[in-house]
Amino acid sequence: MMNTRRIDNHDSLLPQACSGHQLNHCKTVSCSNFGSIDTHNYVLQRNNPNKPMLVCKECGAFPPIINNHDVVEEALRLKQQQNSGMPACSNPECENHGLPVLTHRHLYHAFGFSGDRQRYRCKCCHATFVDRWSGFNGKNQIQQKLLAMLFTGYPVRDICRRLNMNPKSFYDQLTHIASRCRRQLAMFDARLVKNAPQLALASNISELQPNSENGVLWVASCEAESGYVLAQDINYQPDEHEERSEWHDPYTDGARFMAAPPAQLIEAQPPQPQGLLAHIDAVYRQIMARPNFEDPLSSKPRLNYPSKGCLIRPQYTVYAHYMHLQQMLSENKELAIYMPQETLLRSACISIFSDRIKDKTIHPIYVETDPDWQHGQPAGRIDIVLMGWWRDRWAFTRHQEISKGICHLGGAKGDEGKWLEIATHKEITRYQQRFQDHFSHFINEPRRKLRPGGLLPLLDIYRAWHNLCHQDKDGITPAQRMGLVATPLTLEQLLS
Ligand SMILES: [Zn+2]
Ligand SMILES: [Zn+2]
Repeated sequence: MMNTRRIDNHDSLLPQACSGHQLNHCKTVSCSNFGSIDTHNYVLQRNNPNKPMLVCKECGAFPPIINNHDVVEEALRLKQQQNSGMPACSNPECENHGLPVLTHRHLYHAFGFSGDRQRYRCKCCHATFVDRWSGFNGKNQIQQKLLAMLFTGYPVRDICRRLNMNPKSFYDQLTHIASRCRRQLAMFDARLVKNAPQLALASNISELQPNSENGVLWVASCEAESGYVLAQDINYQPDEHEERSEWHDPYTDGARFMAAPPAQLIEAQPPQPQGLLAHIDAVYRQIMARPNFEDPLSSKPRLNYPSKGCLIRPQYTVYAHYMHLQQMLSENKELAIYMPQETLLRSACISIFSDRIKDKTIHPIYVETDPDWQHGQPAGRIDIVLMGWWRDRWAFTRHQEISKGICHLGGAKGDEGKWLEIATHKEITRYQQRFQDHFSHFINEPRRKLRPGGLLPLLDIYRAWHNLCHQDKDGITPAQRMGLVATPLTLEQLLS
């Protein structure tokens, strides 16, 4: 009996695994305990009851603890959001429930028509349903006009006046358009991941409404060269959630739901240092000063908590973002992920892909450059510098006083020159910046600052427009660059 209790104690050291996921482990890639879920390799420090700490006995790292169940649930939420409005079996008892026809054709039979809309039958439970976006879109003209005005920066009230509609029907139209866009994207996304045994992605995380301080963060990943955006998620859900907590308790399910945090005193940020190396060093210090270094919101002095809906602790959305990508990329053989220096992105990426880190089939890479760095220059002389608490191994090169640094977070050595030449996350950073520029009216409307839900359909529309319609200076869209389609889609095609 004594023995059992001792083991029980050890078992409860880590939050319970969920669906085979145990994301709490040493995250120092060079440590012999990296990825280990053997509880004997760790001690739990409970000096501060609000902040239990897991400490690796080997390297002394203290990765913040995360609730596995909540990550899995969050991944499910993100998936459901992407699939919402798509034709799928709607029988909650059925194993095909919620799996869209467009990406799971083998689960369904085409089953005649309803008017001009395609009807399907589920092979498992025989329920039938109609693809309501498959027929002629009678609203195509007005939706095109609406989008054209939205993309040229008209305020919502002007669009409503010109199209003679009330705000309610404006938002209804927006929701319909977003469903059509998700439907189009699902087909292209599936084609992309199917034909990409080797892939380089770029990830970034930024504030969705930078002037609002409302705590909504936006994580997005694109194919690094073409800019085709494969996934984007925000740590906010429009549905209310009763149980929310001020403090993060990773041992309790539901830990991801965040209440408005108390205002806290934060030391003023020192001025930004000059030079890339000093900048990277300063970012490490800022991150280590966060109460939870995987939660960028934990160091905010105050938040303007949304008046509707619920914020999710950002680490759950980011872990779920990579979990979703991992599921999409199950056939991928070699994956690079370029990202700015942000511990949350790093931790999520190496935890979700820890098996592939050990197999060396993934290259998570920090990339930082001076603003004027010209992408694609071959590396000159390379200097290696160990930086931050983690002793991350950075490689730097420079051309005429302009520097670039990369750090292979999987610990691989020898290819620094290659990564210094090709690794970049500028496409995803630009994508997010362009959203801010295009829709600044919409994003910064005073009442929208506390009601971010209205931006959700716009994000889907923007991703579809960017991937399928938006042409670069050579007249080519990201989908064309990926060889998914021969010509840009017009707005009319996007909406049909
Ligand atoms: Zn360790
Ligand atoms: Zn079914």
